[in-house]
Amino acid sequence: TRITLLAGGVGGARLAHGFALALPDGGSVGPDGGLTAVVNVGDDTERHGLLVSPDLDTVMYTLAGLNDETRGWGLTDETYTTLDQLARLGEDTWFTLGDRDLATHVVRTAALREGQPLSAVTTRLATALGVRARLLPVTDDRLRTLVDTPSGRVAFQEYFVRRHHADAVLGVELDGASAARPGPGVLDALASADLLVVAPSNPFLSVEPVLAVPGVRDAVLASRARRVAVSPIVGGQAIKGPAAQILETLGHEVSALGVARLYAGLVDVMVVDDVDAALAAPIRDLGLEVLVTDTIMGGPAGRERLARDLLAL
Ligand code: GDP
Ligand code: CA
Repeated sequence: TRITLLAGGVGGARLAHGFALALPDGGSVGPDGGLTAVVNVGDDTERHGLLVSPDLDTVMYTLAGLNDETRGWGLTDETYTTLDQLARLGEDTWFTLGDRDLATHVVRTAALREGQPLSAVTTRLATALGVRARLLPVTDDRLRTLVDTPSGRVAFQEYFVRRHHADAVLGVELDGASAARPGPGVLDALASADLLVVAPSNPFLSVEPVLAVPGVRDAVLASRARRVAVSPIVGGQAIKGPAAQILETLGHEVSALGVARLYAGLVDVMVVDDVDAALAAPIRDLGLEVLVTDTIMGGPAGRERLARDLLAL
């Protein structure tokens, strides 16, 4: 089975990990199928002269078994000696970067400076860390998510990390999206998929920047794959992050039904948690099929279980 997953950070990484556990050979892509994750790059940022790609790295580290699961991002067993010294040298260090994590950004930035595309260095990094699934940045071009807040428009990480996603989100601007081109393999992975999955990622901050790259949404719509989206909202709340607040400030219902309304017309099947079973009927009224199941992906077992439920579709 060829699985193509549209992913942001944590929600995307957890489901990608589930597929990697459920598929043969860790989701390695061969003639019989495998897992391709098409990942958001709107969160990318430059820190201390280095390009940081948080969503790609969260998916990569999680698939490599190296993600810090308590924090949700970064590597396990990190140390912060370099960050301490950067602070001493007068750098702004509100964006936490561990010593081992910095190595990723050094390698990535060096490769880009030599003229390699982000997709090529992503493959190199993932392979070095033992990831067998395919990781594709949605684009090699520059795409930056900007967030409109009551105090003005700010860069994504300024909103998310520096201000702890506390501001009301009045709108999201995707700088560079209209000029971005899908990265190598992205359109093909969408066209040739048997199962196309929208991860339970933030619809506005993670999924929309992927769909907004010209050609991507059309490729999803044109795909003959079974198209499935998993709700990041469970029991009216996000498991993590600002998805619930953003649904609210942008005028959507804060529930799996509100998410289903966003994805109606894009996918065939909406997957909601057992606690939201009562929403199945109104979601069906939108013309979607509904799968009600346990969507909580705490540890590896829960992730693999959800991936197997999706494969059974
Ligand atoms: P980020 O880029 O790290 O913010 O992560 P994503 O956009 O990929 O995912 C964030 C979303 O994942 C949040 O809205 C969470 O509610 C959702 N999420 C995280 N873990 C789970 C889970 O175990 N199950 C479900 N259904 N959603 C989850
Ligand atoms: Ca993210």
